[in-house]
Amino acid sequence: MSASVAPRLPSIDGLLRHPACLPLAERYGRESLLAGLRQLLDELRSSVLNGQLSAIEISPDVLAGRVGERLAQQQRSNVRRVFNLTGTVLHTNLGRALLPEEAIDAVQMAARYPLNLEFDLATGKRGDRDDLIEGLIRELTGAEAVTVVNNNAAAVLLTLNSLGTRKEGIISRGELIEIGGAFRIPDIMARAGVRLHEVGTTNRTHARDYEAAISPRSGLIMRVHASNYSIEGFTARVPTAELAELAHRHGLPLLEDLGSGSLLDLTRWGLPAEPTVRQALLDGADIVTFSGDKLLGGPQAGLIVGRKDLITKIKKNPLKRALRVDKLTLAALEAVLGLYRDPDRLAERLPSLRLLTRPQAEILAQACRLQPAMAGVLGEPWQVSAVQALGMIGSGSQPVARLPSAALCLRPQVSKRLRGRCLLNLEAALRGLPIPVLGRIDDDALWLDLRQLDDEPAWLAQLPQLQVES
Ligand SMILES: *Cc1c(COP(=O)(O)O)cnc(C)c1O
Repeated sequence: MSASVAPRLPSIDGLLRHPACLPLAERYGRESLLAGLRQLLDELRSSVLNGQLSAIEISPDVLAGRVGERLAQQQRSNVRRVFNLTGTVLHTNLGRALLPEEAIDAVQMAARYPLNLEFDLATGKRGDRDDLIEGLIRELTGAEAVTVVNNNAAAVLLTLNSLGTRKEGIISRGELIEIGGAFRIPDIMARAGVRLHEVGTTNRTHARDYEAAISPRSGLIMRVHASNYSIEGFTARVPTAELAELAHRHGLPLLEDLGSGSLLDLTRWGLPAEPTVRQALLDGADIVTFSGDKLLGGPQAGLIVGRKDLITKIKKNPLKRALRVDKLTLAALEAVLGLYRDPDRLAERLPSLRLLTRPQAEILAQACRLQPAMAGVLGEPWQVSAVQALGMIGSGSQPVARLPSAALCLRPQVSKRLRGRCLLNLEAALRGLPIPVLGRIDDDALWLDLRQLDDEPAWLAQLPQLQVES
């Protein structure tokens, strides 16, 4: 009679000394290896006792292999480059604007060396970090003064809190928007300590609506760029110039949250018109807020520009300290703003503008060029075509405007019942590539919009690794 004896797990000490583990200790450090081995052995112990694992499955070589995979996984950073082929250029979930080389150099310099972040080199005295970009912003927008914070949401919060606490903020019902799920104008106003006084209706608000709302309790009038939605049909909106005149007649400041806030008229590059910061100020807005990483094409930041006395008040708010930007952001922002001094070359030098203005014919030619490689990899069950497509600017700029683009359209040639699953499997496989490829599913197909495919060689090189589950 022979009872089969369950194999025993090797000891930790034995494993640590095993030749298969030595290179792992060398690569990841003894501590990490030890922790990895302990964890793995703990997980396997009960299966081993129950006789569910063979001697081979718990041999040192196999265990070392498994620990090696885990350590490699742990070492891979969570922040990963991806291919944004979604068709949305300024994609909030994918990091919005890409920085120009000039800004990348500036960030490296700021990261590597001490710098005059808050130090006035002329006088040798303490300086103000906003001074590093104030001159440029004034030149580019015509503003009297400027302060910079972490993002535009912070800019709106800080401005409201500095200028309107315990008073009423008058705003049109058509502008009480929500952006990106968590940023809602009424909530931000409440947190800023400003009492919301909404006027007009969703589709129509008139000057008389604002006028009727003004009382001794009023602190400011606010205007918000509708950003991610559009009202069409029977609508009315008071022009900024008229609203500014009305606000000033009653001694109130007019705040304008432009959201994207373009510095230049984008129609010169054939893009949809967006209000410019300079125009809002010319029209009489006292404070204008806008993002650094939307149409401006720079790092995440919130810019607050306008009247000097109001900016001074905003800068004195203790919240400014909590919302300020870091040196890397300021370095990048200055470099990006510098490019705006030469608008003729901006579309070559600023990646977001270059991508937004890529001609459809060029993108379509790229799609035709890549079609055979994609079709070759996907094989029989997929129809791969190079087609025209429509993309978006993103980040709340011109939500209804579409950018004429081109895409690889991947269509599963299977019964309708199986199509959804097929598409999700392909989507997952593309996400699983070393540099994940992100497209979009629409109309029973997966679309890879190529407007933003700059690095074609890297994209092609990893394609053979695509493994679609069927
Ligand atoms: C995008 C946007 C914001 C928020 O800006 P972030 O830079 O993302 O914080 C605020 N207001 C408007 C109108 C926007 O479009």
